[in-house]
Amino acid sequence: MPGTYKTEAIVLRSIRYGEADRVLHLYSTTRGRVNAIAKGSRRPRSRFGGRLEPFFRLDLVLYEGRGELATVTAASTVAAHAGLRSSGPALMAAARGCDAVLRLLDSAEANPPAYNLLCRYLALLDGDESVLGDGAGDGAAGMATALAFRLKLALAAGFSPELASCARCGEADGLSGFSGAAGGVVCAACERGAFELSGDAHRFLVEALGQPLAAAPSASEYTLRQAERAISETLEHHAHVRLRAAA
Ligand SMILES: [Zn+2]
Repeated sequence: MPGTYKTEAIVLRSIRYGEADRVLHLYSTTRGRVNAIAKGSRRPRSRFGGRLEPFFRLDLVLYEGRGELATVTAASTVAAHAGLRSSGPALMAAARGCDAVLRLLDSAEANPPAYNLLCRYLALLDGDESVLGDGAGDGAAGMATALAFRLKLALAAGFSPELASCARCGEADGLSGFSGAAGGVVCAACERGAFELSGDAHRFLVEALGQPLAAAPSASEYTLRQAERAISETLEHHAHVRLRAAA
């Protein structure tokens, strides 16, 4: 049914289209993934100004016709995230975060936890804590927070790995490996096809999932790489999604 609706959304990707238009890949609060065209938005005096760029959080009015693309009829800025744009590491982290949302959350269905998580991550990358650094010395733009974001995003999408007991037999002790195919940590008896997961990496996964995004635990590069592998293999096996390297 053609019609107009309002929604808040994050611009995940903004693509030049035709002579003066843009096609936006959006993650919206009310309808999940939406693709929309902003006609004339690349003209010098466009009413949209410069706010149809990646990482903008916008209040939008969209017209849904019969085509695949909605049409942007109005856009106002909720958050521009100008600070994020002035930092190379923050910009890279935001691009990877939005790319993960594009790959993992492709349905046109509202997912408030995923939307709020993305808003929170962009706000952290935009803020002072972005590159100030904690124990790991890399702040919110670093790999620990990037992995915590992925893990929480996987949870919001319904693909969180099993971390409390063996994903194959339920055993709670002697968890020594991780299996993407099994979907979580595994015990020594079930570790066929698994890779060895250190206690530190297991702890990192549990704490990153349990703590607020801003409090992602710090860990060594080796530990973080193991955690990344665990998240990646879970998503490959169960969501059939391959993410770009986290950092
Ligand atoms: Zn087992």
